[in-house]
Amino acid sequence: MAVNDASGERLHALETPVVPGCEMPGPLPGSLRIAEVRTHLLEHRLGVAFESATMRFDRRQHLLVEIVCEDGTTGWGECLGPVLPNRAMVLSYAGCLKGMNALETEKIWAILYNLLRDQGQRGIAVTALSGLDVALWDIKGRHFGVPVSTLLGGRFRDSVRAYATGSFRRDGVDRVADNAAEMAAHAAAGFHAVKIKIGFDPQEDLQVIAAVRAAIGTDTRLMIDGNHGYSPGEAVAVGRAAAEYRIDWFEEPVVPEQISAYRAVREGQPIPVAGGETWHTRFGMHEPIASRAVDIIQPDLCGCGGFTEAKRIADLASLHGVRVVPHVWGTAVQIAAALQFMAAQVPDPVRNRPLEPILEFDRTDNPFRQAVVTRPLEHRNGIVTIPDGPGLGIEIDRAALEEFKMRAD
Ligand SMILES: [Mg+2]
Repeated sequence: MAVNDASGERLHALETPVVPGCEMPGPLPGSLRIAEVRTHLLEHRLGVAFESATMRFDRRQHLLVEIVCEDGTTGWGECLGPVLPNRAMVLSYAGCLKGMNALETEKIWAILYNLLRDQGQRGIAVTALSGLDVALWDIKGRHFGVPVSTLLGGRFRDSVRAYATGSFRRDGVDRVADNAAEMAAHAAAGFHAVKIKIGFDPQEDLQVIAAVRAAIGTDTRLMIDGNHGYSPGEAVAVGRAAAEYRIDWFEEPVVPEQISAYRAVREGQPIPVAGGETWHTRFGMHEPIASRAVDIIQPDLCGCGGFTEAKRIADLASLHGVRVVPHVWGTAVQIAAALQFMAAQVPDPVRNRPLEPILEFDRTDNPFRQAVVTRPLEHRNGIVTIPDGPGLGIEIDRAALEEFKMRAD
């Protein structure tokens, strides 16, 4: 089967696999048969390049997924990670999706996962599946006229506190002073917490942590993100030295494949350890959660397997007392998906004043937070309202998709 993406390019998808349920979708409400899968590549070139410990950004690129049903019902999703491999993978899955019942999210997840199970238990196979799953839940919500959070079990909250993510290393500036000034501005804008990027040089990183703590004062909460730039020994040393600055969590201290190293960092220094943005599905999350390699697990709705899998991961975390704080790095579609999930997160433990989920709110140069939707998702004094419209609760601005369409260099 050939499928079209937004560029008009024709790409050949995988043949419909011989797996249970894929060839025989069963009785369908004809209107909700999946008719088409489209992809939208977005790009924004940055005025000033920046980098984390492991990635350099001179542009922002994101991939949106659009699923259209025969009755015209449309759902939107997004895939975390490199856009071109994700697009190829999404369009490969499309051959199997066509004709299936868009409401059958669990069944579709199982069929698509099984399609590539032998070689695709993590990585692009799962991030692409995530974007499709998010779009299908959007369709389901629109069909029933309720937000995804209601479908997930109910809205425990209509707003969340956001924390500001920023402080990347920018070209041409003094990093210590630049990070301190940026974080002070976020605190002044009302954010109750900020997260800074470390994982570069341990000594300079500690200077940044000290300067940021001094700049934001004692009331604003502070998290650090190593972007897996440290060796286990460096991470333990940084954690021990940074603890005096009252750090809420130490994110991705070491490379994600080394779960035992995560445990060593958790046991070797006093700051709670967070991770999970590069772990996929419940299978990938199981060991770090069950072995208590992390205190906080950070599934990305557009990377871990979508709503279908994120709910399982949250249930898994609840078995072991691990806190769930979704990772977010994308457009308004991804933010909206995280918000719907967070609205439905069950307080754990349930108590009169429970520990509430907090939203990661990227504050870098990223027009896609606002531009791709008709009503931007913004914070007010560090609080973000969770949309209560059907599905993800957002409407896509197609003119913006055209404006930011990725062009050939
Ligand atoms: Mg991170």
